[in-house]
Amino acid sequence: MNNIEIFELSKRYIPGGVNSPVRAFKGLSITPPIVKRGEGPYVFDEEDKKYIDFVCAWGPMILGHCDEDVVNSIKGVLDDAISFGAPTKLELTIARFICETVGIDMIRFVNSGTEATMSAIRLARGYTRRSMIVKFSGCYHGHYDGFLVAAGSGVMTHGIPGSEGVPLDLIRNTIVAEFNDTEGIKEIFRKFGEDIAGVIIEPIAGNMGVIPSEREFLLELRRLCDEYGSLLIFDEVMTGFRVSYGGAKEIYGIQPDLITYAKIIGGGLPCGAYGGRRDIMEKLAPIGPVYQAGTMSGNPVVMAAGYATLRKLYENRDNFYDYLDALGERMEVGIKEIAKEKGMEIVVNRVGSMITAFFTEEIRVKNYADALKCNVGLFRRFAEHMIKNGIYIPPSQFEAMFISVKHTEDHIEEFLRVMKKF
Ligand SMILES: *Cc1c(COP(=O)(O)O)cnc(C)c1O
Repeated sequence: MNNIEIFELSKRYIPGGVNSPVRAFKGLSITPPIVKRGEGPYVFDEEDKKYIDFVCAWGPMILGHCDEDVVNSIKGVLDDAISFGAPTKLELTIARFICETVGIDMIRFVNSGTEATMSAIRLARGYTRRSMIVKFSGCYHGHYDGFLVAAGSGVMTHGIPGSEGVPLDLIRNTIVAEFNDTEGIKEIFRKFGEDIAGVIIEPIAGNMGVIPSEREFLLELRRLCDEYGSLLIFDEVMTGFRVSYGGAKEIYGIQPDLITYAKIIGGGLPCGAYGGRRDIMEKLAPIGPVYQAGTMSGNPVVMAAGYATLRKLYENRDNFYDYLDALGERMEVGIKEIAKEKGMEIVVNRVGSMITAFFTEEIRVKNYADALKCNVGLFRRFAEHMIKNGIYIPPSQFEAMFISVKHTEDHIEEFLRVMKKF
């Protein structure tokens, strides 16, 4: 079966043929490649067509596909362990490793980013005994009901305001604020501060395309949370171990009260985690009153993949992140040059190896409203062109492209060569 045949048949058994909406290439006139195999910076589809992969599984594959150390680590546990639902020493090893290398007191593992953010919010509410949460428009924190308001990523691409099936009651306690708007968030705290349990933010947003926070804005957020006794939650599901080993928290030098991880933390296997201050984390069951559980949480195969990935990133942190940044910079500069040559209006936002080229006439893209002004139609034709020509990029304007340590200058040059032909 070719890509089209497989995709068409999948639609009969899986809604839209996919297990996560953005994979369906909605709005594009091409069928998504049905991916069969990954190797380093490449993926191959069922028709054996080779692509340079700038999706990297939406972030996790920072070491490239099927990295030898990760594969060996997984194989190393398989003869003895698949799942126990019991404590393992491997959980201790990786929990301790993460806490010590990123600078948090405690961590709990779950199975996805959605689970991590939703659990962090419950904990914030339980700890503060307040109900309101603040999120920023364009930030995506997974598909938990309370976050599906002005969310980015696939929620945005499909142009649906939130989602059907989310009762108004469940978002009544969600306040949506404007990203990078210091005055706006001050006003919200003046009005509701005493009732705000926590503020959740992607400190470097990736789900409305890449949009970093302005430093002053994040500092003000930290200050407001301290003043009003609300918890600051950094959602680093995408940025953790990506923009630097210590994530956005390290780049800005701002310590959140809680932090959420997923994507890279599982080395490509289903994993999420949330962690932070001991006095907050110790409110969790079984020692505290806030309940959260998971049959598969801390699964040994997942832990093995995550540990191998994080250890490799940590040991090579002095080289890897500079290398990724250099490749990202080459891509950014190249895209801007091509845009200038062709008289195309493009704004490139980038933090290290997370990049979005916004097809817009604006001078800057610093929030959701700016992102929405992009020429989505033009972007779609661009994405079709790139993918048809062997450059696998996210099929949406509101996503980030990712680079792995297996990519080289040559792969970036090939990206630019194909872009030039657009
Ligand atoms: C991907 C993502 C999520 C959701 O994670 P899943 O594992 O897809 O549930 C949450 N927050 C951010 C910032 C993300 O990028």
